[in-house]
Parts: sequence; C-alpha cells; structure tokens
Amino acid sequence: MDAAIRPDVVIIGSGVGGGTIARQLAGTGARILILERGNYLPNEPENADAEAVFTQARYRTKEEYRDETGRRYRPGQYYYVGGHTKFYGTAMFRFRESDFHEVRHEGGISPAWPVSYADLEPYYDEAERLFGVRGQAGEDPTEAVRSNPYPHAAIPHEPIIADMAERLRAQGLRPFFMPSAVDFGHGGSCRRCGTCDAFPCRYGAKGDGETRLIRPALKHPNVTLWTEAQVMRLLPAADGRIAAAEIQRDGQLMRVEAPLFVLSAGAINSALLLLRSSDASNPNGLANRSGVVGRYLMNHHLTGLMGLMPFRVNDTKFPKTLSANDFYHGLPNDRAARGNIQMLGNVKGPMIRSAYPWIPRPFANLLGRHSVDWLCMSEDLPRAESRVRLLPDGRVEVAYHPGDGPAHDRFVEHVRSRLRRIFPVVLRHSFGIEAPSHQCGTVRMGADPAQSALNSLCRTHDHPNLYVVDASFFPSSAALNPALTICAQALRVGTHLRAAWRNDNLAA
Ligand SMILES: Cc1cc2nc3c(=O)[nH]c(=O)nc-3n(C[C@H](O)[C@H](O)[C@H](O)COP(=O)(O)OP(=O)(O)OC[C@H]3O[C@@H](n4cnc5c(N)ncnc54)[C@H](O)[C@@H]3O)c2cc1C
Repeated sequence: MDAAIRPDVVIIGSGVGGGTIARQLAGTGARILILERGNYLPNEPENADAEAVFTQARYRTKEEYRDETGRRYRPGQYYYVGGHTKFYGTAMFRFRESDFHEVRHEGGISPAWPVSYADLEPYYDEAERLFGVRGQAGEDPTEAVRSNPYPHAAIPHEPIIADMAERLRAQGLRPFFMPSAVDFGHGGSCRRCGTCDAFPCRYGAKGDGETRLIRPALKHPNVTLWTEAQVMRLLPAADGRIAAAEIQRDGQLMRVEAPLFVLSAGAINSALLLLRSSDASNPNGLANRSGVVGRYLMNHHLTGLMGLMPFRVNDTKFPKTLSANDFYHGLPNDRAARGNIQMLGNVKGPMIRSAYPWIPRPFANLLGRHSVDWLCMSEDLPRAESRVRLLPDGRVEVAYHPGDGPAHDRFVEHVRSRLRRIFPVVLRHSFGIEAPSHQCGTVRMGADPAQSALNSLCRTHDHPNLYVVDASFFPSSAALNPALTICAQALRVGTHLRAAWRNDNLAA
C-alpha cells in the first residue's frame, strides 16, 4: 500500500454505517482509511432518467445471485460512495420503543435487541442532526419519547398528498408528516425535480451517506478514501485478531494492515466477506463460531399499492411527505396484521415495465401518470433458513423465507380496502429479495455469543479488533425504514471507539 498511509482504522464500505464511523472518528486524528469497492456516482442526465435507472439498470451491480432453485438474477445492489443511500427515499424514521423488545407475531418471535430505545435516543437525536432530517414531532401516535424536536420543520405536502392526508383523517386515521432527509426549503438545494426515491439526486439535496458523512469526514486530513478498492478477505492472526484486509485495487491484490477494522459492506456483502475469509482456524468463516453469519436475513415485507385516478394526473413532485402508523401494532380486530403505511416515490412507466415487461409502454406510462403510490411495510421475522451463503464454486445463493407473510397480506388488504374508498382501482405489487433494499440481520448482535456474532457495541464476539456496523447487526427489522437506526447505532459505536482512541486503547 501507499507508504504514506499507515492507518489506525480501516473502514470497509462507505454507506451509512461506515460513513458514520468515519465522521465520528474524523476529529480524533486517528489515521482512517475507508475502502470502498465502488466509485463516486457520476452526476449525469441519466440520474433522473427512469429508462436508464430501471429498464437499463444502469447503476445496478452486474453481479448475479441465485436462489435455492438455481434461478439467477441481477440483484438491486448499488456500489457507490455513500452506499444504498445514493438511491434511497430519504424516509428517516426512529424505530418504536417496542421494536427493541421481544414481540410475539403470528409467525414467530421478533427477538429483543441488546440495546434499548433509551440507549439509542441521544444517538437518534444526533443522527437526525447529521442528516438534516425534517419532520414534526407529536403527530405520530406510536412515536417514542424524544429529547429534542426535529432539527428542521417538516416538508409540506403538495396538493394531492394534502388531499390524501385529509381523506385518511376523514376515515379516522392520524396521518403525519413523514420525517425526511432532503435539503428542502428556502436556500435549500432541492429543486423538486420529481425523481428521488430509487434515483440518485443530481443536486446533492438528498441527505445521503456521501453528502452527510463521507464528504465532511474527508475534510479532515487524517481521513482517506480509496474508491474501487474491494476487500476480498480479512486475514486473521493466530491470536484471533484481524491482521489485515486483502484488497483488489487497480487490478492488483494488496494487503492493508491496521490495529482496528470496521466492516460495513452492507448486510449481504458483510456476511459474504466474513464467510469468504474462512481459514483453518475459522472453517465456517470469521466471527462465526455461533453459525449465525449469513443467516436471519431480513428485508421487510414491502408491498406497493397504486391508487388510480382515471381523470386526474398526479403532478406531485415529492410525494414522500405522508405516513400513517395507526396499524403499527395491529388492526383493531386483527392484532397480528400490522405495519407502517407511507407514500412511495412516484412510480413511473419504466418502473412498472421493469417488473411487468409485457405491459405496453404507453399504458405503463399512463398508469404512472395517473396513480398515487403507497407502500405498506411489515416486519419480516428473522429465520435461520433465510440466508446468504457461498456455494462451493464461489457463487452467491440468497434463500429468503420471510416469516409472517399471511399477516402482512391481511394488513395490505385492509389498507387496500381503505384506499378503495378514495380510488376506483387499487393495484398491488409485492417487492421481493431481488431488490434487497432493506437488507439486514445477517451478522446479528446479541447478548449470547452462542446465538449472535456481535455484542451490543457491534464488536464481533470472536475477534477483538473487528466491528460490524451496517444493517447486518439488526436482530429484528421493525416495520420502519432502517437508515436512521443504522446511523444511530454506528454513532454509539463510534462514541465508544473515540473514547478508546483517547485512552490509547483503540482495539481493546
Ligand atoms: C431504492 C431504495 C430506497 C430506500 N429508501 C430508504 C428510505 O427511504 N429510508 C431508509 O431508512 N432506508 C431506505 N433504503 C435502505 C437504506 O438505503 C439502507 O438500509 C442503507 O443505506 C444501508 O446502509 P449500510 O451502511 O448498511 O450499507 P450499504 O449502503 O450497502 O453500504 C455498504 C457499502 O459497502 C460497499 N462495499 C460492499 N462490499 C464491499 C467490499 N467487499 N469492499 C469494499 N466496499 C464494499 C458498497 O459499495 C457500499 O458503498 C432504501 C434503499 C434503496 C435501495
């Protein structure tokens, strides 16, 4: 490696988890090297072109995964500086207090976290400030206690979304302004261009991992980012500590040694990297004495509902301002059927055709223009048989068997019946693991080293100088978008690492 760089900390991945650690440690003076397999996402007209983003899958990885039947597909994985937040919908939710407790669902148990909401609350607060989250406290009936208001006022609804909020209210629901990390409003960089969720932002207005974490961290001279540097394996020493990362860069294999490694390659890739790093002393992969690495994959039950307005065009530019949690803990007469309702980004014709290529283009475009688009999200349960694994020939298999599907279906049908009071036709589409947008759980944390890979500070039970801070640490998925919780826990871990650095004990 470059003779000038002798990192104290190697961070693998520049998404929310890795970016947060980089930002948190940047001011310490520790020499930090971020290794990112992707590059900066190019700013180009195609960023906002639905044909390019969806039909041509311009930004998606070219890798292939397979399911248990051998079916091959190109997953919705994105490798860029900032990770998946370059494409995310900017919904920045805190989990509810109950999400950290054990919850009995129809299909099984959602396990307790080894940290509580109260442990994370100050870090949620900081995470909201870091991402510039806009929201309005006190409206969401399930909202947990907050020590501070949102840093910025909520993004106002556009007319059609305001109308939706009224109509939900007329049905007795309590819709609220969805918390969102967009630099919107007077002096803000958001131009309401009409693409956001699932598209990269051409104006840097999305509060994402690059704009909010990596770029500010890189202002510190002690932080270095290597792009197109893919970590292939972690190399353990005889004493169980991680000695080095083996990386592929500029067509060459190189080793980077450091006293501390923070892995944050995303839930699927972090698990794969640990599995790929097996050796004689760790035959099942690193951090995997418990056998949990790669297992308990979750992605949420995600179902889109399109309410059609045959005689009206939906001209909303940024619809993701509205959400409802009235059924977060269950329907009134069916407590098992539960979840969050939120607006989806504008569905466009090419998106429809990417799932249903047989629909004629003009008709798909018409549907896109005349629909108001909703997302129903329910918790999927962590199951050992939902897993990513390396096949003997090195290929990747993703087996996904999410628990609690029937309860989600009943929740969706209930929401759909309510939307039918607003729209004459409501179409339904379920998202699968081919788009692993909310992937989590594959390197779970827990109090018991026999049942988990990480302790409550995301340090691996098996390797004292290896932490894992992306969404793989989630013991359960809640029914809300994950990014703010990843950031909050990474801030908590970063605070611990900062103190350790001050005490000259970084890898303790
Ligand atoms: C379309 C879409 C919409 C979404 N909307 C929302 C939303 O509104 N709200 C929300 O909370 N969440 C949303 N999400 C989910 C959210 O973006 C993710 O949960 C979050 O970004 C995950 O962060 P992470 O740090 O766990 O991992 P990632 O973002 O996956 O970051 C991992 C990084 O590691 C890099 N990497 C991978 N392997 C290696 C390797 N071997 N060596 C070096 N680098 C590597 C990757 O390139 C990537 O940059 C959305 C996701 C998508 C795709």
